[in-house]
Parts: sequence; structure tokens; C-alpha cells
Amino acid sequence: MKNISVAIDGPAGAGKSTISKVVAKTLGLIYVDTGAMYRAVALYAIQNGMDTKNADGALEKSLDKISIDIAYQDGEQHIFLNGEDVSGIIRTPEVSMGASNVATLPCVRLKLVELQREIAKKQSVIMDGRDIGTYVLPSADIKIFLTASVEARAKRRHKELIEKGTSVSYEEVLLDMQKRDLNDSTRAFAPLKQADDAVLIDTTEYDFDASVDKILSHIKENMK
Ligand code: C5P
Repeated sequence: MKNISVAIDGPAGAGKSTISKVVAKTLGLIYVDTGAMYRAVALYAIQNGMDTKNADGALEKSLDKISIDIAYQDGEQHIFLNGEDVSGIIRTPEVSMGASNVATLPCVRLKLVELQREIAKKQSVIMDGRDIGTYVLPSADIKIFLTASVEARAKRRHKELIEKGTSVSYEEVLLDMQKRDLNDSTRAFAPLKQADDAVLIDTTEYDFDASVDKILSHIKENMK
């Protein structure tokens, strides 16, 4: 049977990853969080004292030394940076901003996109990111562009960070999110953009269950 691919793109905090995990479980797909890969590259740069924007070329020169792998344990994606499981420590605001910086570099994107395409070739996936429908998997079976107002997204992300024990104000999260939105949508190479053939789903007014229902019914209707 042919492998199925669902591409789910959108800005930070739109709920892509939490929703995709439930959809993956319900439909028996593998969930691939591509943002984690950009985060792992950013973590490498930060840990090695390199500029995440590659101002001095150091990050680009080190790309061969960065090995990124993903593995699944109990259905959860784990990401490995040079053999170390970094799934937990890539979720800080510093790494988020760093990821948005390394994601502007074509050399980083080309390396990670190759890995993402390999994964989708081998199995049925729901892949989340910014450029999955437009660039990574342009012939994905289903394309969804998931969004919400920046205030709603910042509110959700702030709640998540507080629950994890990170001390950060709502205003800081909102500012970070606005900066990342701008960074992600204005970069020259594979920017955040809705694919022409993607369906737009705005979750500003939806709670989690309603968002999942909406996406599941869209996928089921279009898989027939
Ligand atoms: O999705 P997440 O917030 O973890 O992504 C972190 C950053 O990685 C994003 O702000 C974006 O700049 C970058 N990214 C990307 N393309 C993807 C996934 C993530 O540019 N496919």
C-alpha cells in the first residue's frame, strides 16, 4: 500500500504538535516534529558558543559534525543530537529563538529537509513544520495550514511554559512569538506560507478537542 502523508504547517503555538500527536495515534500515522530538528541544530550552536545566525560562518563549517536522529519510544518522537537524547532541553525560549535563526540558513535547511523526506518515504506520516506543504512534501496527500491569533498562541504557550516551571511573563512570550513569526515568514528560503492547495484552519475560537475533531474530519473526508 502507498504511504500516506499529511503536511501540517503554521506559526508557532498554533497547536500543530499537540493536535498532530492525537491525529497520528487515531489514524495510525507516525508523527514527525520537524521543528525539533531545527531546535537540535540551534542547541548545538549554543552549546558550542556559535552564533545561531552564522555571522562568522562557524556553524556552517561545523554542519558535518552535527548528526541528528529521531527514534520513537512508546509512540513519542525522541530527538538525538550526536547520540544524546535532547528532546527535553530543546524546549527553552533561548533554543526557540535560536531555532528560528538557524532556520534562515539554506545550508541547515537542505540538510534537515533531506532527512525529513527520507522519513516520509519509508512510512505514513503526519509531519509538522513551516514549509512541509510548500517545500518538503509538495505532493503530500493532505495539506493543512493551522493558525490562530498571535495573542491566543502566546497565551497557550505561556501557560505551557508556566506549567513546566519556566518563569516567564506573557508579554515576553508574546514578543518572542511576534519576532519568530516575522523571522519565519520573511526569510528568503522556504518561508512560512500557506500552500495554494492547503486548507486553512483557524483555531483562535476553538478548544483543543474541537480543533482535533475539525482536522480529523477534514483528513477522513479527503482520504476517501
Ligand atoms: O515548531 P517549532 O516551534 O518547534 O520550530 C522551531 C523553529 O524552527 C521555528 O520557529 C522555525 O523557525 C523553524 N522551523 C522551520 N521549518 C520547519 C520547522 C521549524 O523553519 N519545518
